[in-house]
Amino acid sequence: MEETTKMSSSSTNKVTCIYIAGRGHSGSTLLTLLLGRHPEIAAVGELANLSLQCHRKEGLTKWAARCGCGERPFNCSVWKDILNQVHEFSGIDMQKDPFAWHVSDVGLEEEYRSSAPRKTPLIWARNKFWRLWRYAQYSPSSVMRSFTQWYRPQISWARNRSFIIEKFAEKQKARAVVDASKDALGMCDMYYYSPLPVKILFITRDCRGSVWSMAKHAKSEQERVAKILEGTHEWMVVNRRIVDYLKLIPSSDWLHLKYEDLCHNPPQVMKNVFTFLGFKNPPDILATTDIQEHTIAGNKIRLSGNITHIREDTAWSENLTQDELQNITRLAGDFAATLGYQL
Ligand SMILES: [Zn+2]
Repeated sequence: MEETTKMSSSSTNKVTCIYIAGRGHSGSTLLTLLLGRHPEIAAVGELANLSLQCHRKEGLTKWAARCGCGERPFNCSVWKDILNQVHEFSGIDMQKDPFAWHVSDVGLEEEYRSSAPRKTPLIWARNKFWRLWRYAQYSPSSVMRSFTQWYRPQISWARNRSFIIEKFAEKQKARAVVDASKDALGMCDMYYYSPLPVKILFITRDCRGSVWSMAKHAKSEQERVAKILEGTHEWMVVNRRIVDYLKLIPSSDWLHLKYEDLCHNPPQVMKNVFTFLGFKNPPDILATTDIQEHTIAGNKIRLSGNITHIREDTAWSENLTQDELQNITRLAGDFAATLGYQL
C-alpha cells in the first residue's frame, strides 16, 4: 500500500476518478447529479455493480438492470462499445460471463441479499472473506496491514475499474468520472491501486435523517424500534470506518461534505468541490440541466430526469419521537459531534 499523495490529473493528463464515499441515503445521488452538471465531469453511477448489472435479466428488478438511458447495458450505445473493448482487451465476454472480469468484490450475493448464505453459499462466504481480509489490509493498525499485504486481489479489480473509467471518459468526452459506489473498501481499493488519480468526496447526513430513511418503511412498532437501532448502528459503523481509512490518506485527496450544507447552499458547496477537484471556472450549477444518460447502476432517481428544486429532506424531525431522538443521541451523539453534527 503506497502512502503517498496521488498525482493530480493536471500533472499527468490522466482521467481523474472522483469516488463518492458514504452511507446510503446520505445525499450521494444529489451530489452525483450536481457534479455531472460540470461539462468536463461524467457520472458513471455505482460502478462496483457493473458485473451484477450485466448479469441481471429482464423481469428480475426492472429498473436496476438498465443503464440510465433506459437500455440494457449490451443495448446501450455507450456501454455496448465499452464492454466490447473489455472483450478485446481481456478476452472475456461480459454478456456470457459477467463475473469473470471483476471491477469490485460485488458478486451474486448482492442480488440475493439476506438469502445469499442459503442461495449462493460459496460466493457469499468468499465475499465475506475478501471483506474481512481487506478490512485488515486497510486497518489503522500497521501490524494488521503488513500481515495481510501478500495477497491483494483488489489490485486487478482497481485496474479493471480504471480501464472502464478511462473508456467511459473517452466516450463522454470528460476529464473526470464520478464513481458513486460509496463503499469504504472500494474507496481504498481505488485510492491505493488505481493507476488514475483518485479524489474522494466523503458525504455524510445527520444520523437522524439517515435513520428515518430506514425506519419510515417499518410495518410495525416492533420493526420500527429495530430499524432505528440498526440504522443508528450502521450509520456509526459505516462512517467511522471511512473516517478511520481517511486518516491514512493525505487530506489533499479527500473532502468531507454534509448533505445538509449541500441542500442549503448548493452553488457555494459545489464551488468548493470543483476547486478541490482542480476545476477552474465552475458552471452555475443551478442554471444547468442534468446529463446523466449512461449511469450504469444506482439510485432509481438516475432514471427520472432533471432535478430542478433542491430541498433538504427533514421528515425525520416531524416523525421521530422524543424518546427515539434521545436514544439516537445516546448511541451516536459523541461520534456525530466529531463529524460536526450536534444531535
Ligand atoms: Zn446507456
